Amino acid sequence: MKALYFDGSLSIKEMPDPVPARGEALIQVLAAGICNTDLEITQGYMGFNGILGHEFIGLVVECDNPFLRGKRVVGEINCPCRNCRYCRMEMTRHCVERTVLGIQGRHGAFAEYLCLPEENLHLVPDSIQDETATFTEPLAAAFRIVEQLSPSSEDKILVLGDGKLAQLITQTLWLYSKNTICLGKHPWKMELLRNFGITAVPFEKYKGESADIVVEATGKSDGLTHALQLIRPEGSVILKTTCYEGSPLSSVSAVVNEVKILGSRCGPFRPALEALALGTVEVRPMISEAYALSDGVRAFSRAKCPDVMKVLLHMR
Ligand SMILES: [Zn+2]
Ligand SMILES: [Zn+2]
Repeated sequence: MKALYFDGSLSIKEMPDPVPARGEALIQVLAAGICNTDLEITQGYMGFNGILGHEFIGLVVECDNPFLRGKRVVGEINCPCRNCRYCRMEMTRHCVERTVLGIQGRHGAFAEYLCLPEENLHLVPDSIQDETATFTEPLAAAFRIVEQLSPSSEDKILVLGDGKLAQLITQTLWLYSKNTICLGKHPWKMELLRNFGITAVPFEKYKGESADIVVEATGKSDGLTHALQLIRPEGSVILKTTCYEGSPLSSVSAVVNEVKILGSRCGPFRPALEALALGTVEVRPMISEAYALSDGVRAFSRAKCPDVMKVLLHMR
């Protein structure tokens, strides 16, 4: 099969088809999205070498469960051991032995085929198109915040950043509180949110009061410093940026204001699929360009450019 492979540099490689381990399904990838994490990995984040990609939709080709065969699926990316201390605590996303699709110890989705445990798979309703379904994984990461904080309609929420993940987070939290504002940087990206009736203002122009919840999703190392300037005493700051260069933290204001700082990574697929099926979260305006897998290297170089948002790969 063809695959987009990273080993210090990116190239299209001819590789053997993957062979599913026990309990795993073989999946033919239909489409996949390039995410900032993929771009960070090519900068050295996670030290991963192999096939990149973790946001995908595919068709189940081979698996033990006959019900899944031939079905369109998306897949949770963390593959736990089910045995370690955190797995026994039902914190499988934190399994110490885990592999993660296209990120850690497991080949990813920028290929014609991939393998994942059957229990990681979720059926995609017919009403969700392939391109839309590739957003399930990052949208689940947005719903992780809901799982962690249960925001109420009274909460004043600020989302820092206007990139792909920040937009999904803003749309998601806006479902819970209409008092959600995106503080962005790029006029055309903020416009996408305004088209839904969501308030988006340039970060440096924001003069409003401090927020109950600030979500840092800028992808920049100084985002946390800004978040701490905008949070109210005893408020919650959610950190979404995984930045290769790390982040300098001046912790004094967090101590004095007794701020809760919460990391946030992968989330639940079910509410994400539901939102995509119902159209309560709209992802299509975020798709900038799509390429064939064989053009994957070019797709990556485009995904880095400031004038695009989501770049997709089509595998057939
Ligand atoms: Zn991602
Ligand atoms: Zn484990």
